[in-house]
Amino acid sequence: MWPALAMVVALVAGSACGCRRSTSAGKSEATTAKPTPRPRLPRIDVHTHVSPEGLERALVIMNQWGIDGMVNLSGGTPGPPKHRLEGQLEMARASGGRIAVFTNVSFVRAVRTRPDYGVALAEELRLAKEMGAIGLKIPKGLGLGYPAPDGEHVLAVDDPKLDPLFEEAGKLGMPVAIHTGDPKAFWLPPDAKNERLDELRAHPDWSFFGEPVPSWAELYAQFERRVARHPRTTFIGVHFGNDPEDPDSVGRMLDKYPNFFIDTAARVPEIGRHDATKMRQFFEKYQDRILFGTDLGVGPTQDDMMYGSNGSQAPTLDDERRYFESTWRYFETRDRQFESPTPIQGRWKIDGLGLSEAVLRKLYCENAARLLKWKPAVGPTAAAK
Ligand SMILES: [Zn+2]
Repeated sequence: MWPALAMVVALVAGSACGCRRSTSAGKSEATTAKPTPRPRLPRIDVHTHVSPEGLERALVIMNQWGIDGMVNLSGGTPGPPKHRLEGQLEMARASGGRIAVFTNVSFVRAVRTRPDYGVALAEELRLAKEMGAIGLKIPKGLGLGYPAPDGEHVLAVDDPKLDPLFEEAGKLGMPVAIHTGDPKAFWLPPDAKNERLDELRAHPDWSFFGEPVPSWAELYAQFERRVARHPRTTFIGVHFGNDPEDPDSVGRMLDKYPNFFIDTAARVPEIGRHDATKMRQFFEKYQDRILFGTDLGVGPTQDDMMYGSNGSQAPTLDDERRYFESTWRYFETRDRQFESPTPIQGRWKIDGLGLSEAVLRKLYCENAARLLKWKPAVGPTAAAK
């Protein structure tokens, strides 16, 4: 047994989404009055990327920051050449029921080898489900990079030949976490006016400006057509529905498509700059449709970590602390103008939502448990600090 796993088992406290544990949540540096400590709520992080060697570190982070379960969206594919999914499922089993896995599928290989590539991908998904994966993650490569059969274009998000894959996901009850596009600023010139300049300076290859790729709007239209076409398939639009810059548009999608859900992964900096009252109303109105996610990347060493986004240097433990503390502070307090979890994503401060406990419970845990039909088996007795 992993040393960290032994520690987890020793700290069993009850099933997630059902119990309260004592610790403070969301520090309030901006106010002089001491905040009333409130019980730490159960949490499932629906958006992480845990490497096969990252289990021990993932368990330490969960215990440290009060997260009961993680969904690893980097499951890999079930088939050759790497059979990565097997290893990721094995790692999830070794977590003692605290990690669940979404599979990926082999778009590039299927398009290259089968004229009916959507059927091939549906078969692959079925196999992944049999092996133990609970959902499907579609990376932004669909629409931006995977080649179409003609070898000249990219495979569109709404390519009709992919329909069998998305229909099969619905039949199998596997939610589809889908990333389409990227921040709108990545399509704009990477100059002084670009609000993501710090990030683009650290990662010049993240810019799509002048690249032969579809426009942001075209990708989003493909994505919407995909969601519309499969009413019996559950979609989780990652990164706040792939459109955190425009919550009104995300609300329109949520109103129109009952099969559409969103996660908050790596977008607290973006949504945190919108008017806090308006965003609180958004979280209240769509309280059954929003899932808590971080986009945490976990590897075996500190150098392998990613907290939503990274600069050119490896992130530090201070970055980790800011990432989680600012995240809890955003959801749980009404503090104003504090540092975002990931300042490299924009030079602005954010305002907290101070959601009610009932809404927080849904956001942090209950919506995920319902949608994924999965709960972490155990939880830590205490969170951070
Ligand atoms: Zn991600």
